[in-house]
Amino acid sequence: MSAQDRGTFPDAVAVVVARDGRLPVGADEAVAEAGGAAIVIGSHAREGADSLAAGDRVWWAETGDGLRPGALAAMLAPLVADISLIVMPASPDGRDLAPRVAARCGRPLVARAVRSELIAPSGDGGTPRVRATVSRIDDRVLVPVTVDGPAVVTLVPGSRSVTPTAGPATVEPLLVPALEGSTDREVGAVLDPVVLAVLEPDLHTMDLADATRVVAGGAGLVPGADDRQAEQIFDLLIAVAAEMGGSAGATRVATDAGWIGYERQIGTTGVAIDPHLYVALGVSGAAQHVGGLGTPRHIVSVNIDPSCPMTAMANLGLVTDAHQLLLELARRFGVAVPADEDSAGDLPSTARHAEAHRG
Ligand SMILES: Cc1cc2nc3c(=O)[nH]c(=O)nc-3n(C[C@H](O)[C@H](O)[C@H](O)COP(=O)(O)OP(=O)(O)OC[C@H]3O[C@@H](n4cnc5c(N)ncnc54)[C@H](O)[C@@H]3O)c2cc1C
Repeated sequence: MSAQDRGTFPDAVAVVVARDGRLPVGADEAVAEAGGAAIVIGSHAREGADSLAAGDRVWWAETGDGLRPGALAAMLAPLVADISLIVMPASPDGRDLAPRVAARCGRPLVARAVRSELIAPSGDGGTPRVRATVSRIDDRVLVPVTVDGPAVVTLVPGSRSVTPTAGPATVEPLLVPALEGSTDREVGAVLDPVVLAVLEPDLHTMDLADATRVVAGGAGLVPGADDRQAEQIFDLLIAVAAEMGGSAGATRVATDAGWIGYERQIGTTGVAIDPHLYVALGVSGAAQHVGGLGTPRHIVSVNIDPSCPMTAMANLGLVTDAHQLLLELARRFGVAVPADEDSAGDLPSTARHAEAHRG
């Protein structure tokens, strides 16, 4: 029997928007936070529902391409009105949808939570409460929040770990009014932005969290280089990553040194990513770094140390000099290499280090 037949969902449910079947970063965390129950909406929603690792009871509804958060909220509100805790990942779509669903359901929005839980009513007839911890001032302050009654929560990706469910999930379709082709008036007089065009993201600058391929550099990409050379090498990494259809990431060592911007830092104090392909060039694989990796389908580690943690968790480990490999990739992709970089690349890395130290 479906949740609709029963007229009820569990007390806590995650709502996740899929785009072409792809779920946003933090989707599984939101589902785990809601105890394994999820509603997946969007385009190719069934595919998205099937790809959840943390879901055990999953409903999906195909709502078509392009997100119309106002129309979706109007459609969802009556369906989710009895759910006490609605969790959405604090992804771009989740952040668009959550306040509208909260407003439609007449309940508070708890934005940017790192934790949330439902507290059962103490006596008969009481209402459940939602307790959460929200992150403020660039994650520097954590504030406890309690809502006396139901709430909508957006969960910051990277806030918690996810344990895949042991058995197969139940995945059921959810009958919803069609959105595609409907007018705002038909779905309840909502104002939605009009989409004029959807532009492909610029791989050089796109939000790392949205990248499906990430090529990251660590200290091992620039051993012996001075800061100016290291910046050049990271610029080259950005260009080569784009040729590979990906975006450049980095470890904290690289961002702290200023070789690449902080927005490129992956990890517990950086961006949480969840790409299909993750290539690590000279990255040791420290816990604080891999804590932000999500669950990439393919990991390639390029490192001179075959036993480093990054290589240990990789599908493919290349034991070689990361900078030499980057230069070779640049040549093969036809990416311009700065003249001094090019000549340095012809030297064995140990010789380059000696040069650098002498210089
Ligand atoms: C509170 C806290 C929060 C942190 N948050 C983050 C975070 O969000 N993100 C993050 O990344 N880090 C974070 N860190 C830092 C983290 O602990 C590690 O220090 C950092 O990730 C290591 O970066 P790395 O792999 O570039 O450098 P290293 O650990 O120095 O590793 C360099 C690697 O390069 C390899 N190497 C050396 N030469 C070559 C070569 N020629 N070719 C190929 N490989 C080579 C080495 O074998 C080694 O594996 C945090 C630390 C703390 C204490």
